[in-house]
Amino acid sequence: MKTYHIITIGCQMNKSDSERMASLLEKQGYKKTDKKYQSDLVVVNTCGIRQMAEDRIYGLIPAIKKANKKAKIILTGCLVNRKDVKNRLKKYVDVWKPINEITKIPLAPFIKGGKCPNDYLKIEPKYESKFSAYVPIGNGCNNFCSYCVVPYARGREVCRPAKEILAEVKKLVKNDYKEIVLIAQNVNSYKSQIPPNPPLSRGDIDFADLLKMVDEIKGDFWIRFITSHPKDMSDKLIKVIAGSKKICHHIHLPIQAGDDKILALMNRKYTVAHYKSLIKKIRKAIPDASITTDIIVGFPSETKKQSNNTAKLMKETKFDLAYVVRYSPRPGTASFKLIDNVSLSEKKVRENKLTKILSSTALANNKKYLGKIVKVLVEGENKRDELFGSTETAKIVKISTGDFNQRLPRSPGSSPGLKALPRNDSLVGRFVDVKIIKAKDFGLEGKLVKKKLLV
Ligand code: SAM
Ligand code: SF4
Repeated sequence: MKTYHIITIGCQMNKSDSERMASLLEKQGYKKTDKKYQSDLVVVNTCGIRQMAEDRIYGLIPAIKKANKKAKIILTGCLVNRKDVKNRLKKYVDVWKPINEITKIPLAPFIKGGKCPNDYLKIEPKYESKFSAYVPIGNGCNNFCSYCVVPYARGREVCRPAKEILAEVKKLVKNDYKEIVLIAQNVNSYKSQIPPNPPLSRGDIDFADLLKMVDEIKGDFWIRFITSHPKDMSDKLIKVIAGSKKICHHIHLPIQAGDDKILALMNRKYTVAHYKSLIKKIRKAIPDASITTDIIVGFPSETKKQSNNTAKLMKETKFDLAYVVRYSPRPGTASFKLIDNVSLSEKKVRENKLTKILSSTALANNKKYLGKIVKVLVEGENKRDELFGSTETAKIVKISTGDFNQRLPRSPGSSPGLKALPRNDSLVGRFVDVKIIKAKDFGLEGKLVKKKLLV
């Protein structure tokens, strides 16, 4: 049996795409291996968002081909259309395919499941996790933010029919998945038809409607979604989140910069005032919402004063988390033509300044959890036998389990009286209640509330 190995670099969308790629390969008779240097087929799912992500493949791909001359290498993801990348790696890569064309990769005939669908989103994924699943609601982007490669790498926005999304979620919930993460580059521009018998016209339902329909699916699970674009976030969506039972109170709303001139240069199509008004509405409707963001420091021509405007906005907004990154010029994008005139050292200064503000607002927000009992989805266990997981507000929690730490016999009946106590790892993928006893800037610590677990 031939083997495959997938290397995924980048965002949730790339991770989700790799799950579809894995499923496609397995249907064609390939078997997964962890050994990239011995695999018959190596898929590299690339990210071109920043130079750092791009650079990873220049060492990796030649090293794989050198160690394993017979391996076939498929390159997909954000860098697949870049001519300069192609020239640099052409002697190592066997197949170049954009992600939405992976169903056309010439491999063995499609074995299980009959005909290979033309639309790659129709491939049933091989989910990495047994309890949390990414569910793409579309692919591509129409926004053309001046710094961003996504519209070039993934093409124009295509929305997945609501009927397909709902079917995927229902199946996941039936299989006891606890976390559904709806993903798209801009969830707020989602458009589809009403299931189950769509009328002929497009655009009957928007993201708020879709979210409401997912919320109405019966079962014990919660719903997350990323990423929201501030220009398209509607009052209707805020209302749906506030009134829902299962939608997590976490909103990732990238601001990118806190200065109107820089936002215009970035082609973001909103102002700081608009962003602030959204935050105000969210906080009013969902008082416990955690709000996170993305910020780019050192965009071409950004002055100290303009960066200070971002600092001011961060102090006012009191983010729970922010991905503060240095601007990275990307070939092919509009801003690539601008001079990258903020020095690396100045970018680092701005990055550090914003990270310090973030650290203090995040700590202040996290202190509000002290003494509270919160619902946590357990995601794993560390080497010290502690569990970790996330709250619905996307706070990472380290959980001490006290006497639950004991390695208890698993098989029922082997130790009467103890069998009711679950072992730590049997709690992975389950919701538990945790009492928060410590707050840090980027995490919480708590104790497992045990009584609920005794059956
Ligand atoms: N669609 C999302 C939005 O509009 O906010 C973001 C998707 S993008 C793949 C993820 C993040 O990468 C962006 O929010 C931005 O902060 C960052 N990013 C994208 N291009 C970048 C660049 N050229 N330099 C630095 N950061 C970049
Ligand atoms: Fe890139 Fe802007 Fe589209 Fe986000 S909205 S993927 S930043 S072009």
